[in-house]
Amino acid sequence: MKAKDNLEKAYDHITNQKKDFLHKLSRWYVDAYATICVEDLNIKYLKENGKSTGLRRSIHDASWGRFLSFLSYKAESAGTEFIRVDPRDTTQMCSNCGSIVKKTLSDRVHECPYCGFIADRDYNAAVNIHRVGMEQPFEPVETIPLHHISVMQVLSMKQEAPPLRAG
Ligand SMILES: [Zn+2]
Repeated sequence: MKAKDNLEKAYDHITNQKKDFLHKLSRWYVDAYATICVEDLNIKYLKENGKSTGLRRSIHDASWGRFLSFLSYKAESAGTEFIRVDPRDTTQMCSNCGSIVKKTLSDRVHECPYCGFIADRDYNAAVNIHRVGMEQPFEPVETIPLHHISVMQVLSMKQEAPPLRAG
């Protein structure tokens, strides 16, 4: 009985520390950014549920869910835009050229064989989440001729210069 009480106290203490950390972290994001884009957890969960196993995974998911709910309500009360994004291909897609570059969970680095872009796996995904959330257009790479000009470059050319006229 006593041991159980102590264990419960210790557990509550850890839970409160985690909550406190998640409050501070979500506050920091809401203060720092006017718009926050996140992967929609419900969609992600449904898609990955079959593959996810283990207690660690479910604890991770619970913390992530709590973090998103803190972010969501803090964003709302601060007037920060909070956008949930379909997580489809956010990790696999090259954020530079749009090609699908297959990765397993242990591949921590995104290395695109099509355009040569190399980035941290999570950074690459974050750029994709941001692009989808901001509804920035992204041409599928299949429609682009095989010479290697990235979609990012095409988009910035479109913004900076009027279209070239032949002849
Ligand atoms: Zn690429």
